[in-house]
Amino acid sequence: MVPIYGLQKTTLLDYSPHLASTIFFGQCNLRCPYCQNYELITPDSTLGTISPEEIFSHLRKRKHLLEGVCISGGEPTRYKGLPEFIRKIKELGYLVKLDTNGTNPSMLAELMDKHLIDYVAMDIKNSREQYGKTVGLPGMPLSAIEDSVSLLTNSDLSYEFRTTLVKEFHTEDDLLAIGEWLQGDSSYYLQNFRDSDTVHEKQLHSFTHEELLRFLQILLPYLPNTKIRGNF
Ligand code: SF4
Repeated sequence: MVPIYGLQKTTLLDYSPHLASTIFFGQCNLRCPYCQNYELITPDSTLGTISPEEIFSHLRKRKHLLEGVCISGGEPTRYKGLPEFIRKIKELGYLVKLDTNGTNPSMLAELMDKHLIDYVAMDIKNSREQYGKTVGLPGMPLSAIEDSVSLLTNSDLSYEFRTTLVKEFHTEDDLLAIGEWLQGDSSYYLQNFRDSDTVHEKQLHSFTHEELLRFLQILLPYLPNTKIRGNF
């Protein structure tokens, strides 16, 4: 079974500036308390799946309109058939963006080596010191995350790092530590937490405009291509 649990047929946001469709793969190996897609990540999900035939039928029909496909989740790199699945999308002529939490560097390397992806957005959940707590898995080893960071920073592929900022998890010291860790010319996006009914843990909070600007000032000396994404 291909674990596809959602299809957004048209989006201008997920693979900007391209008009794209987003495919949501179910399940994830992390447990971020602020996850917007918690119903997709639990193994006992009773959500219905969408067949690959339905996906490819949609992509063939919309080829005149869409430029790209965003592969998102959950964590799509958990699906072993991902390279073959994306190869079929590439055969239709689409650009492909991968959203990943960076925990599967071998799959990332395979997709890069086979030229199956055109853009990667990798989550940086927090400073190394706070990583495990921030993803709901205290003590989680970070070697896979570090390997994925190295793969991207040493490649010619277009990519971004991005962090969703949640008041209960991120401090100015954490942002400074992220800057020291990732320093260089990578594109880095700060995204403010958005509360919604689908967020598993209640009582989480976003930052104010001024607080986000302060984070930006902390990061710019280390990561000059840092931007704040979205309305804040
Ligand atoms: S990595 Fe993404 S999909 Fe997985 S739990 Fe965290 S926010 Fe949710």
